[in-house]
Amino acid sequence: MSAYEQAPVEAHRATVTRRQKATGGRQVEVLSAREVPLGGPRAMVVRRTLPQRERSLIGAWCFADHYGPEIVAVNGGMDVAPHPHIGLQTASWLFDGEIEHRDSLGTHAMVRPGELNLMTAGRGISHSEVSTPDTTILRGVQLWIALPDEHRDVAPAFRHHAPATVALDGAEARVFLGTLAGDTSPVPTYSPLLGAELVLEPGAHTTLAVDPSFEHGVLVDEGAVRVEGTAVPGGQLGYLAPGGETITLANDAGSPARLLLLGGTPFGEEIVMWWNFIGRSHEDIVTAREEWKAGAGRFGTVVGHPGERLPAPELPNSRLKSRGNRSPR
Ligand code: MN
Repeated sequence: MSAYEQAPVEAHRATVTRRQKATGGRQVEVLSAREVPLGGPRAMVVRRTLPQRERSLIGAWCFADHYGPEIVAVNGGMDVAPHPHIGLQTASWLFDGEIEHRDSLGTHAMVRPGELNLMTAGRGISHSEVSTPDTTILRGVQLWIALPDEHRDVAPAFRHHAPATVALDGAEARVFLGTLAGDTSPVPTYSPLLGAELVLEPGAHTTLAVDPSFEHGVLVDEGAVRVEGTAVPGGQLGYLAPGGETITLANDAGSPARLLLLGGTPFGEEIVMWWNFIGRSHEDIVTAREEWKAGAGRFGTVVGHPGERLPAPELPNSRLKSRGNRSPR
């Protein structure tokens, strides 16, 4: 997916609610989503919870778009023309529908529910994403992972993984990155990370052991979910600072709830993030933009996508600044 947002993140005043349940759960910050039109020929709108003014990253997770249920017959679904990335990985995770992915490595893959598609941009890649003609309802998330400085120029790569379903008391989990509930994803990461889908049964109250050095985010897809006693509405992200050894999730509804549990050690590096690029300086971004405009070999060519590639937007007049990240506490 491409970050089309016209207004810079700095202009968005995030609503952050800090609540602590009287019954003694850990403090949870509820990060509200903002609606961002993806642009292009179709009219899809996503709910973006990362980055935002109050919090740029959770571990190395630095971008979270949640979308759907999108009625494709009404809004046309997803059609994102070839566009570049540097310095990050994109993780695509669907709940409904199917997306056709093509990239400049020659990868042609279908993104399907319950299957991780992880694209490493490293020093440079380009890709397109289009929902397939048979898709009637599209629902999922697009996540980005910032690469640590020592790995941000790695060779581009593409990885697919369909995790097994792990049965828990009142829930089931699919661990696509890292370790949870006794399952470990075989997909390596460049920093300590967790990414898992959890489905909670009606009335479930599930406690998961987690790495206390990780900060965590609970992105709710659907259901009446409470995280450590704090309600996190659908499309929003509950943030938990490092230090806890467990996370308790509850579903108050009479139907299943679904969420993603994201985590990682606090990233600790300042990043400069603009459009689809992550660098460490204004110059990194200017160079990447110029090279995309010039059709440089760094980004290769996406074969098989009908139509033009995306033009880079204009840079702001001011220098791009690194994005701070408020301390976990
Ligand atoms: Mn993309």
